[in-house]
Amino acid sequence: MKFELEKVVRPHILNLAPYSSARDEYTGKEGVFLDANENPLGSATPENWNRYPDPYQWTIKEKLAAIKGCRPSQIFLGNGSDEPIDLIIRLTCEPKEDNIIILPPTYGMYEVSASVNNVEIQKIALKPDFQLDVEAILAAINPKTKLIFICSPNNPTGNVIDRQAILTIIENFQQGIVILDEAYNDFADEPSFIPELDSFPNVMVLQTFSKAWGLASLRLGMAFAGEELVKLLNKIKYPYNINGLTQKLLIENISNTQFVVDSVKTLNENRNWLAEELTKLPIVTHIFPSDANFLLVQFTEAKAIFDYLIENKTIVRDRSKVMLCDNSLRISVGTVEENVILMDFLKEYASK
Ligand SMILES: *Cc1c(COP(=O)(O)O)cnc(C)c1O
Repeated sequence: MKFELEKVVRPHILNLAPYSSARDEYTGKEGVFLDANENPLGSATPENWNRYPDPYQWTIKEKLAAIKGCRPSQIFLGNGSDEPIDLIIRLTCEPKEDNIIILPPTYGMYEVSASVNNVEIQKIALKPDFQLDVEAILAAINPKTKLIFICSPNNPTGNVIDRQAILTIIENFQQGIVILDEAYNDFADEPSFIPELDSFPNVMVLQTFSKAWGLASLRLGMAFAGEELVKLLNKIKYPYNINGLTQKLLIENISNTQFVVDSVKTLNENRNWLAEELTKLPIVTHIFPSDANFLLVQFTEAKAIFDYLIENKTIVRDRSKVMLCDNSLRISVGTVEENVILMDFLKEYASK
């Protein structure tokens, strides 16, 4: 069986004509623009934002393609990764008919987006070592399965997913699309799948500016896929989904990849320090290995420790009710000072 995009996409979307925005017809920058009902006088803000932004963000994509080793036409930018997650579900899944496969414990948005769209979710748990249960995943695929979401390094467990297992899923799921969420790839030594997209037409890779780039507040997520799939995502997105301020900031600063490199180095060092300190605590029962900027840590009594930290205005993520994460808290790696504060409260709790 060979991947055929037209068979994965919902038929009515294949036939749908997208909104044609004023700026679709003329891409030049100079001219008398009387086509979009903008305010020609300027803006209420000191800097002018009166013109609609580039709907396809080509300047960013050209610079980003060089950084990521792909072509600009293989990139889709969204309002956070949340947008491409939602769009890929809406592009492929008929509500109440088609289904997706997710692999818990994993990122919550896949389930939220599918549920909002009334799309059935099949959950195939990771194995106790947080690796893929390849046989169970392949067995769960039925004729109505459109998407499989794989997160690597996985949130909330922190581990990289075995590459061979991912390849096996990709090779054996030609009827749909595998979404590889690489939000934490910057922190891991594992190579990205982006440079290999030409060999895998049934793969969409997700990355984000929210983590290693330190731009969570700008809401900028990236999806990388074959050109035809990107064109279809463009067809169903809101026309101006990335605002002009965000585009300008990114164009001016995207060459600052040194910040990413330095952040990764520092945060990985801080993570290793945290892990080492945590092992010394009697209230810690296990620290799961992490290739990301957080640690999943199992405690003797996670909920009580979580509450104690909250009382002291130190906030971590309680994952103790999540499958395979009994008594575990997810701790984002902070600055040296923040990590010391966390450790001091944990020591205090342990000595009570
Ligand atoms: C943080 C995170 C993202 C990024 O989400 P944004 O919407 O881009 O901020 C994506 N996937 C996973 C698994 C994450 O943990």
